Amino acid sequence: MPSSAFRDPSPRPLPAPLAPDAASLTSELGPYLKPEDIAQVEEAFCFSKAAHEGQFRRSGEPYIEHPVAVATILAQWHLDPQALIAALLHDVVEDTSITNAEIGEKFGKPVADLVDGVSKLDRIEFKTEAHAQAENFRKMLLAMARDVRVILIKLADRLHNMRTLGAMEPEKRQRIARETLEIYAPIANRLGLNSIYQELDDLAFRHLYPNRYRVLAKAVQAARGNRRELVGKVQEAIKDRLAHCKIEATVTGREKHLYSIYRKMQEKSLPFSEVFDIYGFRVIVKDVPTCYLALGSLHSLYKPIPGKFKDYIAIPKANGYQSLHSTLFGPFGTPIEVQIRTQDMHKIAEAGVASHWLYKTSDATLNEVQQKTHQWLQSLLEIQSESGDSVEFLEHIKVDLFPDEVYVFTPKGKIMALPKGATVIDFAYAVHTELGNRCVAARINHELMPLHAELRNGDQVEILTAADARPSPSWLSYVVTGKARAHIRHVLKTMHFEESAALGERLLEQALRLLEPGSHEVEEASWDRLLRDTGVKSRREILADIGLGKRLGIVVARHLLSLGEPAPGERRPLGSITIRGSEGIAVQFAKCCRPIPGDPIIGFVSKDQGLIIHTHDCPQIKQFRADPDKWLDVEWDPDTKKLFDVNIKIVVAHQRGVLATVASEIAEAGSSIDKINMEEEDGSAYATILFTIQVENRMHLARIMRSLRKIPEVVRLSRVKG
Ligand code: MN
Repeated sequence: MPSSAFRDPSPRPLPAPLAPDAASLTSELGPYLKPEDIAQVEEAFCFSKAAHEGQFRRSGEPYIEHPVAVATILAQWHLDPQALIAALLHDVVEDTSITNAEIGEKFGKPVADLVDGVSKLDRIEFKTEAHAQAENFRKMLLAMARDVRVILIKLADRLHNMRTLGAMEPEKRQRIARETLEIYAPIANRLGLNSIYQELDDLAFRHLYPNRYRVLAKAVQAARGNRRELVGKVQEAIKDRLAHCKIEATVTGREKHLYSIYRKMQEKSLPFSEVFDIYGFRVIVKDVPTCYLALGSLHSLYKPIPGKFKDYIAIPKANGYQSLHSTLFGPFGTPIEVQIRTQDMHKIAEAGVASHWLYKTSDATLNEVQQKTHQWLQSLLEIQSESGDSVEFLEHIKVDLFPDEVYVFTPKGKIMALPKGATVIDFAYAVHTELGNRCVAARINHELMPLHAELRNGDQVEILTAADARPSPSWLSYVVTGKARAHIRHVLKTMHFEESAALGERLLEQALRLLEPGSHEVEEASWDRLLRDTGVKSRREILADIGLGKRLGIVVARHLLSLGEPAPGERRPLGSITIRGSEGIAVQFAKCCRPIPGDPIIGFVSKDQGLIIHTHDCPQIKQFRADPDKWLDVEWDPDTKKLFDVNIKIVVAHQRGVLATVASEIAEAGSSIDKINMEEEDGSAYATILFTIQVENRMHLARIMRSLRKIPEVVRLSRVKG
């Protein structure tokens, strides 16, 4: 009966073929898993073994040894059966023909999700070496993992790969070691997995800098003898002094691991002989006053190093962590680090993690995954309290595991952090302001996506730009970053202003020409007088006012030429102004009649909206024509290059596919369709379709209409105004 193999910790020989492969795992499971859970884990083992059959690791042993080793590490941390099963299967989807869906069917969705999470992390490669990038990459991994167990499986996976790294060729060994040092060891550190953190660090150090590792290891070993003696002496001295002051305390010491010694030497440019704080001490006492008493007595034992004292009891860290930290001059001037805290602080600090975390997700919305995570965090805390330093863990667990940020790649592999909900536009502005101002679309993971597409963790985003693209007011509704919002607002405002001023300048020139044909140079003094009289700050502002219709060009021109008010009844035609269609928002084409080049047009000066162009025969404007001050004669610039929207109405015989025929005919004629509206009457043999299409001018429109008339199903066809 194979299931007993996992349950039975006795030395009785295990049935083949499970025995030799899984012995390390079985011995870990018995003490903490239920028999039915063990049976499940065993089933996953058999499944994985069959899937990896015939595969071998680089070092030569059967592949199955790797997933078993990974699951064994997780079992040592007392992880739940789902995580153990996922660990056994973690390379199955990537390396064999088995799909994630099959895993879901066989072992349930939670396991499949875990395996999928690990595979996703495997596919992301860390490229850049900049320190800030490493930080973002770590956050991205944590954010992507969503379930902490994914990270734990990944860490165990990495740990086993590091332990067996010797079989890899040197180049790959270097890359994996560097990645471990910059990404995975710090993550382990944050999660409070101290022994793994230190082992990853030291293994990576050994492979990355084999010579330095060897030299330092030797030096530490040589120094260990006499220093241990020193440390023992210090610990005794501390205990004696506390006892002498009648302070009850537990004093513990701790040795730094090799790589952190090396890092200290690097950072402070110290030779090994000058790195003394390889050892630190923690003093745990019964209450707060005793903390200060203990501190005082230790400061009288060894002098404190100025500037190294921190009172986290009076001013706790943001996460609630409390302790007194001080560094003392020990015997022979050796610096000694001491942390003093109460038993309660020790406990509360660690339970505090869970409460912070619970608070953030709020109990009402605690979903299953989070509950799992929470349970796991609690078990992690138990491991924590056995293994010591939880400060890092406390500090980062909140921000990292459920961040309000997404992490995405630029095409060059740089990582950008953006707030959750950020879109392509936010990304573009985060990279560069000009990129934001010119963006038109994006490729997300090589797929074309619109500007409002929301970004997800791990996305690779490439922005597509156009030279004449500009921000649109509608962008404001789908950006979340302040930076993007501010830039869009700014551009819209200046764009509006500049375009209005440009139009105003043309309107003013036209008015000046009319009043004084021949010369239209206005003297500086006249401008100064105008600004003084009106109280407006600049010439551009006056021009923008004219463009916006807040001032009349003719009135400003009179003022500039000192002509005074016109005599009643004196009205002269202003002459016409040319319209190119490229004036921007200062000139708008009325939505009712949609004028196109070739149409006789007229301009309405609207307050705040600039010039609005209508066709002469637009039915909408008839009643407003009475006020001649508001209307300008305008004409088309013969060289307009723009495309203009125009409405056409087509009545077609109701027949399958007729819309497609009409649409393709429009496209054929070099136009594009902006909008389609179809009106159908029940039972009628005809349907009316309203198109908004883009044309260059009347000739173009005529050409399109002609070819549409040739379609047999088209019964009636007309342009719509008003
Ligand atoms: Mn693996």
